[in-house]
Amino acid sequence: MEGNELFTYIGNNDYEGVQKFLSEHKLKGDLYDDHGMTPLQHAAYKGNKQICQLLLDHGADVNSGRHEHGYSALHFAALSGKDDVCTCLLAAGAKTYATNSVGRTASQMAAFVGNHKCVAVINNYIGKSDVDYYILARGLETSPKLDPILAEPLHNFIMQVNIHPVRVALNLLPSLISHLPQVRKVVTLMSEKQMKAGPETNEIMAFKLHYLAFIIGEVQKCKQGDKECDLVELFVRKVHRPIHGEKYVEMFVRDCVREFPYRECMVFKQMVSSLSRSGGDAIPALSVLTTAINGHRGFADDTQPCATCAEESATKKCAKCKVVRYCDRECQRLHWFIHKKECARSNAASSSTSTTTEQDNSTSNQSGNSASPRKETNSEPHLVQGGENSQDNSSPSNSEAKGTLSSEAVNQDQNTDSSKSVRNNDESIDQEKLTEKVSNLVCT
Ligand SMILES: [Zn+2]
Ligand SMILES: [Zn+2]
Repeated sequence: MEGNELFTYIGNNDYEGVQKFLSEHKLKGDLYDDHGMTPLQHAAYKGNKQICQLLLDHGADVNSGRHEHGYSALHFAALSGKDDVCTCLLAAGAKTYATNSVGRTASQMAAFVGNHKCVAVINNYIGKSDVDYYILARGLETSPKLDPILAEPLHNFIMQVNIHPVRVALNLLPSLISHLPQVRKVVTLMSEKQMKAGPETNEIMAFKLHYLAFIIGEVQKCKQGDKECDLVELFVRKVHRPIHGEKYVEMFVRDCVREFPYRECMVFKQMVSSLSRSGGDAIPALSVLTTAINGHRGFADDTQPCATCAEESATKKCAKCKVVRYCDRECQRLHWFIHKKECARSNAASSSTSTTTEQDNSTSNQSGNSASPRKETNSEPHLVQGGENSQDNSSPSNSEAKGTLSSEAVNQDQNTDSSKSVRNNDESIDQEKLTEKVSNLVCT
């Protein structure tokens, strides 16, 4: 039959072939192969996002299939290990709660075979319509619960994978920050809705939303009267302050779990049992949460998270000590109050001095190629840019210099974004670069 041709094209990752076939034949409902698999399921299994998107654009049903073991297209994407294919299917409405014949969801299958990125993408996915629900006035309401301009930033905020409290707070864009009570209310309602969705109940998302609402509450608590202040900065200081240090995070994460109202669900029970371990078996509360939401993670040796927000593979590092890594200048600025002592110490320890901005991947074993005297602990931090050959001589940190700082920070963000997309395109090259940088560091 002519459908076989289509399966052959997909099997060969032949995009043009699929395109030609679809222009000549209309996809009536879905085709099935001998195992009850649809063309979309084949494309997902091959991990080919382009072909998946093409089939979806031609009306393929993301949830259809008669696979003998009950696998959905999302199951196959999860097994392929391609998180972009998962995202594409999720955006088309793939059901995350669908289970195969052995009762496993796509995310569970991904975890089973160690495709952690897919686990994180699936577990953190929420449809835009779930947020948009709140931008319309319902029932007797005279105004909607959520200002429509907040829908997009809130949707992005919820889908973030890194759940470190600092990263969560940093992801609260100014528009969300200026509407915290409203945002917190909606996030809490969304959590409740996820729990009461019948067969579509998503415990993990319900808990994540509860956690996000909890952090928003903690950020709100930083407000001191009517004083104008940077709530996120105050919150970050609380998280990193040495006296409370990890203890504050440990405590509020535990409080957050304790306040989760749905105690019968599996996620809650699992977390409580992990949190009740003590002594040598104790696991930091934040790791328990990360595992519950994003699945078990293997840590690659060559990734060094940002010291401020734990974002993985932070590409820039402190130009003074060349040890501590950051995502961008904003992360460095927020961490400076705590890092400056450590930084001075590690500088004193290493006899070599260097300029404040130096390429970490330059051939740089030359010490003291600068005459600039080291400033005291109040001096400003600098970033060495990882990867690209750009230099950065400007200095952040100073609150007086905020005007210049914010525009600097934007530039920095753009840099980060572009380096991120490069990383996504070719992870192996980037990892090589990282390893190279690490070895340079050791030499220095
Ligand atoms: Zn960071
Ligand atoms: Zn440093």
